[in-house]
Amino acid sequence: MKFNTKTIHGGQEDIDPAYNSVMPPIYQTSTYAQSTPGGHKGFEYSRSGNPTRSALEKSIASLEKGNYGLAFGSGLAAIDAILKLLKPGDEVISTNDLYGGTFRLFTKIFENFGIKFHFIGMGEAQNIENYINKNTKLIWVETPTNPMMNIINIEAVAEISKKHQTLLAVDNTFATPYLQQPLDLGADIVMHSATKYLGGHSDVVMGVLAVKDKELANKLYFIQNASGAIAGPQDSFLVLRGIKTLHLRMQRHCENGKAVAEFLSNHPKVDKVYWPGLPSHPNHDIAKKQMKDFGGMVSFTTKNNSLPGAISFVEKLKVFTLAESLGGVESLAGHPASMTHASIPKEEREKIGVIDSLIRLSVGVEDERDLIEDLKQALG
Ligand SMILES: *Cc1c(COP(=O)(O)O)cnc(C)c1O
Repeated sequence: MKFNTKTIHGGQEDIDPAYNSVMPPIYQTSTYAQSTPGGHKGFEYSRSGNPTRSALEKSIASLEKGNYGLAFGSGLAAIDAILKLLKPGDEVISTNDLYGGTFRLFTKIFENFGIKFHFIGMGEAQNIENYINKNTKLIWVETPTNPMMNIINIEAVAEISKKHQTLLAVDNTFATPYLQQPLDLGADIVMHSATKYLGGHSDVVMGVLAVKDKELANKLYFIQNASGAIAGPQDSFLVLRGIKTLHLRMQRHCENGKAVAEFLSNHPKVDKVYWPGLPSHPNHDIAKKQMKDFGGMVSFTTKNNSLPGAISFVEKLKVFTLAESLGGVESLAGHPASMTHASIPKEEREKIGVIDSLIRLSVGVEDERDLIEDLKQALG
């Protein structure tokens, strides 16, 4: 089955044996009647399994070319489950340009449980080997990164991870399986904040994982059930519904992302534009190799690099909404220095490129002419 068919039918073969409904019903139930102790139809209690969640889990497994999917109450709950594979003394090597919530979870929660983290640049995958030792159990990659849109070569990292027998997990939230499929490139676990592009309509918070290996899937399922941070049936339905148009939305996100990146590149007030589809992007070649297209996330800075200038720009926008989050049908703008990265000291955030004038755009699926008009008036 091709990807665009999988978004609609992947893993959805026997969804409603009762009435053949085309969409899986929302099984809003906590428990299931048993004919005799243990006599059930595959579901006993909705933390352990729910048919609506199961339909979504099969869909995500199919899209990511995994064999197993797992859905959690948020993206961070999904990451939390992966980290619970580890024990005190274990070490993790992670990309340094990382979603803020992931960084917080690693450093403020899991460091307290005796897990050690190394946050490093992975522009050159070989750099990872400098930090590997016998305790290294997990390599954590996010690509494209947030908000600087750096691209990490997943295949090169996977080679190192295999050589040293560590797990490789990839946060695929920004790219989605439409653009890149990390399991195919050698990753062991792929993770999403389904809150973003998979849901796609800014109406749900959820996280998902997909894996190929049965033993690993069993361990993660054990954690999902034992810790209990599951996705509910209503939210599972919403994400399934979102996924059915993922390929259509992503195609338009990419087209509009390109139009916006090109418009900004030619604007006299704009300094740098960070979009991996631009030939001037430092990781353009890897992006071209590992991604099908370049997505709808675009960051940029202005030449005068003024904080009031950046604030005034986001306040003037009319079609773009000033908001946290990304990946919905509507275009959003964010100011990392005062929003997502405000808790990082100025000097630290500037080291990774988050200067005062940096704006991050989640380019939606509106008409590109309206988006460009809006950016033009706000920059003027
Ligand atoms: C939003 C996000 C997360 C966290 O997901 P939640 O659903 O908000 O818990 C993790 N990684 C990336 C890249 C994200 O954008």
